[in-house]
Amino acid sequence: MTLLTYPSPKPKSAPAVSVVIPVYNEEENLEELAARLIRTLNATGQTFEIIFVDDGSRDRSWEILTRLHQEHPEIIRALSFYRNFGQHQAIFAGFTAARGETLVTLDADLQNPPEEIPRLLAKLAEGYDTVGGWRENRQDSWLRKLPSRLVNWIMSLVTGAHLKDYGCMLRAYRREVVNSINQCQESSSFIPALANLYSRRVAEIPVRHVERQRGRSKYNWVRLIRLNFDLMTGFSHLPIHAVGLLGIFMALLGLLFGLYLFLRRFFLGPEVEGVFTLFAILFVFVGLNTLGLALLGEYVGRIYREVRHRPRYIIRQTLETPPD
Ligand code: UDP
Ligand code: MG
Repeated sequence: MTLLTYPSPKPKSAPAVSVVIPVYNEEENLEELAARLIRTLNATGQTFEIIFVDDGSRDRSWEILTRLHQEHPEIIRALSFYRNFGQHQAIFAGFTAARGETLVTLDADLQNPPEEIPRLLAKLAEGYDTVGGWRENRQDSWLRKLPSRLVNWIMSLVTGAHLKDYGCMLRAYRREVVNSINQCQESSSFIPALANLYSRRVAEIPVRHVERQRGRSKYNWVRLIRLNFDLMTGFSHLPIHAVGLLGIFMALLGLLFGLYLFLRRFFLGPEVEGVFTLFAILFVFVGLNTLGLALLGEYVGRIYREVRHRPRYIIRQTLETPPD
């Protein structure tokens, strides 16, 4: 596999670490998050920058970010999207803006404690390209955990890379991996899976996870199901192949069944009891057909979306101190 990397233009003041944080209506968490991040990163002795990407928040998030940037113009940078484009688009934008040698992503809701970052960095320094966190004692409701299990299972199957926790966004990446990710122009994607694609060595370490103290989760079931469809079709053609194989298998079974019915007719004479069995079988076929169509539609839809080349996000405002 060829690695799609290119040397990035590096400004003189490139920090060692860039932390990228997507923010969507997190006004209650931002101040504490910034304070804890700065404390933790200062303690590592490395140079760093923190990039907040406001994903079209409707609360006071941008106001707070503006103030944080004014208080720490050298280390806090902020972008704001024109409207809500989604968590992963926000991370893409942050990656594009980041100047660091190592990149870390983190949720804004403090569920993944920022204090875990030094451990990720230490692991990365051992020679890994990507280090993911997995939430050892995930503090979410089972209703929220169930779809995540599904995502994990599907992602492991589809990408062939078995990670314990694809959904944990507390992750660290080497610059080369992010350069490759930055070259991906597809309009919907999933950062941890992309990172796997461009990493040779991936590690996972357990990280703490706490319950959301303030604000609400931005994901409901419908959003998660849509994400799942995106993932399945975005990373492999396995689903469509599986449906194809199943189709062949079902057709063979149908033939055999037809033969069996024919023989019965021959030996036992006409019967009508089988009518309902046939109905049942018909439903199975119709179901499979629909599923196949849905998957096909998904692929066609994706092609359509790609050929339109629409901008993935629109930045409204950027707050930063230019590098010297
Ligand atoms: N987020 C975002 N845009 C969205 C949804 C979420 O930027 O459309 C951010 C959110 O502010 C948080 C992170 O993505 O920093 C994860 O969201 P959340 O905590 O709601 O997800 P969960 O923990 O329930 O998976
Ligand atoms: Mg959360």
